[in-house]
This record gives sequence, C-alpha cells and structure tokens, in this order.
Amino acid sequence: MKDYIIVGAGLSGTCLAYRLEKAGKSFVVFDDDSQEASKVAGGFMNPVILKRFTLAWKADEQLEKAYTFYKDMEAHLKKTFLGPLEVYRRFSSIEEQNNWFAAADKPKIAPFLDTKLVASVNKHIPGKFSFGKVLKTSRIDPRYLLESYSEHLQEKGWLVQETFDHDALQLTTSGVQYKNIGAKKVIFCEGFGIQKNSYFSYLPLRGNKGEYIIIKAPGLDLEVGVKSSIFIFPAGGDHYAVGATYSNTDKTPEPTQAAREELVEKLKDLIKTDFEVVDQVAGLRPSTIDRRPMVGQHPDHKNLYTCNGFGSRGILIAPSISEELIDFIEEGKELDPEIDISRFTRKWYKKA
Ligand SMILES: Cc1cc2nc3c(=O)[nH]c(=O)nc-3n(C[C@H](O)[C@H](O)[C@H](O)COP(=O)(O)OP(=O)(O)OC[C@H]3O[C@@H](n4cnc5c(N)ncnc54)[C@H](O)[C@@H]3O)c2cc1C
Repeated sequence: MKDYIIVGAGLSGTCLAYRLEKAGKSFVVFDDDSQEASKVAGGFMNPVILKRFTLAWKADEQLEKAYTFYKDMEAHLKKTFLGPLEVYRRFSSIEEQNNWFAAADKPKIAPFLDTKLVASVNKHIPGKFSFGKVLKTSRIDPRYLLESYSEHLQEKGWLVQETFDHDALQLTTSGVQYKNIGAKKVIFCEGFGIQKNSYFSYLPLRGNKGEYIIIKAPGLDLEVGVKSSIFIFPAGGDHYAVGATYSNTDKTPEPTQAAREELVEKLKDLIKTDFEVVDQVAGLRPSTIDRRPMVGQHPDHKNLYTCNGFGSRGILIAPSISEELIDFIEEGKELDPEIDISRFTRKWYKKA
C-alpha cells in the first residue's frame, strides 16, 4: 500500500513528488510523455509581467520559495539546472519608459525594476528608447530538471512510464486500487491531459498553445534575455530560443508553420543579424478561465486530488502550490480559496 499515486511528471507532479519524497511518503508516479508544456517552457523565474509592468500573482512570495526549492532539489540530485539570467525589456516608446518608472514607484514591484536604463545590450539589437533591467531573475532548464528527477524516480523504482487508465481505477474504503498498486490517495497532475480524466474533466481548464523556435545566429553573441514583442534568450552555443506564441483556438500538440512565420517576422524586427531556424517546439499550457491554479479534492471522491491549472509561471508557482496541497491533505490546513477547485463545484460539477 503506497501513500500516493501521482499521475503526471510535468512540473506539477515533479514538485509534488519531490515534496512527498522529502516528507518520507511512499508513492509511484505515472507518466506517458503525452504533454510537453513543462519540457518546452522557457524556464524563466520572472516575477514581472513585462507587457504591463505589474507583479505576477503572489510572485514576490513565490519567488524565494521557488529558488530555495530548486536549489535544494539540485543538491539532492547532484545536478545543476538553475542559473542566473539577466532579463531586459526593450522599450518601444517614451510612454513605455514612463510606465516603467511609474511602476518602479510602487513598493511591491520596486524591488524588481531597475530604474537605471541602459542604452544597449547587444550591438545587433537596436533600442531607440533603451532597455530596462528586471532584477532578481533566474532561469531553470525545465527539460533537464524533469529528466534528472525522472532518472532518480526510475532508480528508486517509483516511475511507471505508461498511460494511466482512469477506467481501471477502483475506489475502495481504504483508498484506491489501480491494477496491482494499492494507494491511499491519487493526485492528478496531467496538465492539459486532464481532459481525458473522467473525475476532473468537469473543471474549466481551457488550454493555450505556446510555441518557440530555436535559431542559430553565430554573429549574435547574446548572453542575456531580451523581451520586446517576443522573448529571445541564449540556448547554448550560438543557439537561441525565440517565443513564445499564444493560441486559445489551436489545441493540437504539433508545432505550426503559422507560429514559425509569426516568430520569424517579429524576430527580424528585434535582431539585425543573420539567423536560421533549426528547431521548433510546442506545448499546451494548462490555462484556466480565471487564471488561477486548480487545486484540491474531488467533490465526491475524498481520496482523489488534482494539482493543475498552471497556465503560466508554473516554474514560479509549482513549489508553493505543491506545499499548500500537501499541507491541506496531510495536516488539514485550509486551501487558499483562490486556488481551491471547490470554487467551481456549484457551477461546473454534475454528479455522475
Ligand atoms: C511555449 C511555452 C513556454 C512557457 N514558458 C514558461 C516560462 O518561461 N516560465 C514558466 O514559469 N512557465 C512557462 N510556461 C508554462 C509552463 O509550462 C506550465 O505552467 C507548466 O509547465 C505546467 O506544468 P504541468 O505539470 O501542470 O503540466 P504538463 O507539463 O502538461 O505536465 C503534465 C504531465 O502529465 C502527463 N500525463 C498526462 N496525462 C497522463 C496520463 N493519463 N497518464 C500518464 N501521464 C499523463 C504528461 O505526459 C505530462 O508529463 C510555458 C509554457 C509553454 C507552452
């Protein structure tokens, strides 16, 4: 009898599994590689919304927790996937500059916006209205983090690399039975894959497709991240990642020609040096109708939980939310009503 079954080893499932491991709980994790959102994510831990110069939801509280969490995970796994990355916002007008300074006057966001603007960050990136630096930014390599933890799970015998079949789950008086595995509880962390989960598919998770292109630009020599209408950041050697796109209508997993053309067009406006597109990746962000995570206990089945809805900034959010969910399950601490799925029960849940 395990304490937990976790379904999904994206950022959500991985953060939960690591917390449970540290707490000495027994578990197995199922993953079938059907969703890519965590693997293709840019990996930024950036507390500032760079379109509006506002602080992302609870980002000041989450940032420190996330940093400590990933550092601890690195030490545990003896791998390095977290590092500093300077991020600059290229301004497109005087008005944008003014908005930056106005935002920097607000106490909550002031610690994250440098008020000393810089005229240039790279000779191939013109910036008529200069650049503002976001402070306290860092980046994890999400793919490497997930692969490293999966390897660790595999070594321990805690990873099952197959599709979890919801129809084969039996609810028992003491917990659940899934094929030959008995467990007290199941936590579903399937990202956009929640649509195939008969227990939680009632939740209004919408999905938002995001794509990046990877370019080779030998002359660029850029060591920082730059955001204009798109983001560009170093991806090793003379490779750079450029993105991301947002689509609420296309729910297919594959990269598209339209996204590639959109990104190339915007990139030509940002960098003035030759480049070639060498790769393209896509993922479905598990975005929600109210832009908050969806976390908590099934309305009828008390041993079933979900930890989902990280439509954006999952890297920043997942370490805090996984802690909240475990405190809720193990210690009975109340969930923040903003994230608790019970906010959807009345309108969206219909008893089977
Ligand atoms: C292009 C792009 C760029 C992004 N950039 C950033 C960024 O810079 N910073 C940031 O914080 N966030 C970023 N995000 C958002 C981030 O990716 C998400 O917030 C987060 O990764 C979601 O993680 P998740 O674990 O909830 O879902 P997912 O990553 O989708 O993981 C779900 C997992 O469950 C598995 N699964 C599903 N169904 C089953 C089943 N039945 N059986 C077994 N396994 C199953 C899947 O294989 C998958 O591994 C980006 C997203 C995209 C698409």
